[in-house]
Amino acid sequence: MPVMNASERKSREQICLFARSLFERGLTAGSSGNISLRLDDGCWLMTPTNTSMGFLDPARLSRLDAQGDLVSGDPPSKELPLHQALYDTRAGAGAIVHLHSVHSVAVSMLPEIDPRSVLPPLTAYSVMRVGAVALVPYYRPGDSAVAGAIRGLAGRHSAVLLANHGPVVAGSTLEAAMHATEELEETARLYLLLRGLNPRLLSQAQVDDLVAHFGLEPHRT
Ligand code: ZN
Repeated sequence: MPVMNASERKSREQICLFARSLFERGLTAGSSGNISLRLDDGCWLMTPTNTSMGFLDPARLSRLDAQGDLVSGDPPSKELPLHQALYDTRAGAGAIVHLHSVHSVAVSMLPEIDPRSVLPPLTAYSVMRVGAVALVPYYRPGDSAVAGAIRGLAGRHSAVLLANHGPVVAGSTLEAAMHATEELEETARLYLLLRGLNPRLLSQAQVDDLVAHFGLEPHRT
């Protein structure tokens, strides 16, 4: 492992610890899913291509420069362009989590969903932690065109759902991105449980109250 400061060492360990936790809870299977994190020096770390989130080595994470070129470590995930696009449009993003979590993927295929706000406001925490989730059309994994679609959202959403593929969620820290991703998956699961049952949603007034009270980004129901 190259010489690095304590903060980078801690970030590497945190990525591997969180990735393993996501893998062990069945939130992303096989070699799917990836995590990236912005470092203080303008570079970023990313989980390598063709690796299981359950068995990452902190020393082998991809270290990329600000342009996304590999500086050290193993080659990055081929889904790097979608991370880059979200960082480019979300100035406050410190980390990004992308999973193939089953319930979120299932919701991405339903005919009735609104691409500007995939999930209705079912719970306060989904509004507080995730906000409005945008749907991005299907692209072949690794297709750099997905970056254009994410840039087209102009940073209005911290959470994006790739159709027939999975969520991509940005947070100010890795912990925040991970919590938001988990909240999104649980909300997708609730939505599937309640689909067709005409559940009582939070009203626009209740959502507006959360937005005002917690200083959230605007959320349209
Ligand atoms: Zn993926």
